[in-house]
Amino acid sequence: MGVQDTGCLWRVPAGHGLIREYDGRCTYHSDWAFVAPNFRMREFNPAGVRPYGVMRKLVDQLQRMRWALGAPIIITSGYRSGTTHGSGLAADISVPARTFIQVAQAAYNAGFRRIEVIKRPGTSYWNKMSVGGHIHVDVYDGSGNTTRGTIYDCPSCASIPCFPWYAWGYGSVWSTSQPNTFSQLMTNLRADRSVTGYRGC
Ligand SMILES: [Zn+2]
Repeated sequence: MGVQDTGCLWRVPAGHGLIREYDGRCTYHSDWAFVAPNFRMREFNPAGVRPYGVMRKLVDQLQRMRWALGAPIIITSGYRSGTTHGSGLAADISVPARTFIQVAQAAYNAGFRRIEVIKRPGTSYWNKMSVGGHIHVDVYDGSGNTTRGTIYDCPSCASIPCFPWYAWGYGSVWSTSQPNTFSQLMTNLRADRSVTGYRGC
């Protein structure tokens, strides 16, 4: 499965990133420009990849989370190669001043339907995220709309586009549960059950 490049990424001016708007247009923003009240363009590119870009929906939903949580959101990984990150659909975040459980709930409330919660051994989902780990949030919806093209460029993901449940592991540690609803994910988090996540759309 190939990528149908929209061409947008190849026209990003130096020192800029792109946002693919809801209507499919690509807009270009200086790295330092605010693309939402609390986020600058460059925050979606911590790895320093060129060219780079993300979907407007990702920016908007993170801003909604920012308002709801009332605390800074650090994007630890945004645009980069691989999976949905490489299509501008996903971010890995930490909110050091809030717990994993609070942040997962805020992600769902903001509209995210693909949420992975990864803690480090010896920590709890009840801990503030300053203990380490991250939460992956993702706006992939099966529509094929990405920053790169009209086909989602993750061959291994094409066969699992939008199942009501999906369970996975991290490294060699596999999830002990298969949450098929967001409330099941929250149950798993409250019980501190291993690495877990939720994909529904
Ligand atoms: Zn991720």
